[in-house]
Amino acid sequence: MEIGRNILLWGSTNDWMKKNVPNFKFVKRAVKRFIPGETASDALDATRELTQININTTFTYLGENIKELQEAEQTADHYFQLIDRIYREELDIEISLKLTQIGFDLSFNKTLLLFKQIVRKAKECNNNVWIDMEDSTYVDKTIEFYKKIKDEYDNVGLCLQAYLFRTMDDIKNMMDINPWIRLVKGAYNEPDTIVFTDKRKVDENFFDISKYLLGQIQKSGIRAAFATHDINLVGQIKSEAERLDISKNATEFQMLYGIRSREQYQIAEEGYNVRTLISYGEAWYPWYMRRLAERPANVGFIIKNLISK
Ligand SMILES: Cc1cc2nc3c(=O)[nH]c(=O)nc-3n(C[C@H](O)[C@H](O)[C@H](O)COP(=O)(O)OP(=O)(O)OC[C@H]3O[C@@H](n4cnc5c(N)ncnc54)[C@H](O)[C@@H]3O)c2cc1C
Repeated sequence: MEIGRNILLWGSTNDWMKKNVPNFKFVKRAVKRFIPGETASDALDATRELTQININTTFTYLGENIKELQEAEQTADHYFQLIDRIYREELDIEISLKLTQIGFDLSFNKTLLLFKQIVRKAKECNNNVWIDMEDSTYVDKTIEFYKKIKDEYDNVGLCLQAYLFRTMDDIKNMMDINPWIRLVKGAYNEPDTIVFTDKRKVDENFFDISKYLLGQIQKSGIRAAFATHDINLVGQIKSEAERLDISKNATEFQMLYGIRSREQYQIAEEGYNVRTLISYGEAWYPWYMRRLAERPANVGFIIKNLISK
């Protein structure tokens, strides 16, 4: 299992595979399970359906680790237009993006400038923006970046990963800036000197941090989103929220499009706040490989698509 995960995560960063695998038709067919399509219109159509069952969405226009700043500007333009479109269509869709998609590998300050423009635009349109967390080499500077943004804007959240030993401390050290936190388990290949390698330990840490965040929701009304498809953890978080008398509406779960769809519907039906993250765009390859690595059994879907046509 661990070997399969490592091979898939290695494949997510391999240049030859990045260039060639997305051209295989059977892979394209298999990807459809996780993305409604390659355009914003496809993601908007999917949102309209989810809205009918009380699920709101977050959009990610796929892309990461760009090599030219010009690409960062094109991505920012895409988000400006998207935010306008969401506003016009009166849908509850937030934005989530990777800083390396808008130049973080090239220039901290240029990325800050572009990100602030996106957040300002979102603020004008009553919208919110989330920062994805990438591999561990980015954690320090992403937190530094987030703090700078929070000095000026309140409509921004940060994703943090429960597999890292450091995350509980990072969150505690951030409480003075009234953060919005999206808690995930973590999707990258990391050295065992900095992450829990035992899945049970990751789950335990996820729940410990969740308890802390729920306590902070109760105390100071911060926003925290529990982003997991782990139904056991969802159950534990619901019970703890109930024990603390936190309303269902203030208990927010986030999941990915195409994963645990039935459960997403049920949790929303119970009255909890549920938001589905929809990714779209042509640059789906590394993102898709991380989804496969989370559950190597998903490779079966690719094989099924290979033999079905
Ligand atoms: C809204 C959202 C935003 C995210 N943002 C980030 C981010 O910014 N940075 C980051 O590092 N990670 C991010 N992730 C990914 C996250 O780190 C995990 O890799 C991913 O969510 C799988 O972990 P899990 O909590 O669902 O638990 P797991 O224990 O991995 O899974 C629990 C169960 O969910 C189902 N499941 C989980 N993943 C899959 C899958 N790919 N295919 C099919 N079934 C699956 C399976 O039934 C599995 O048994 C995000 C996840 C979500 C939901």
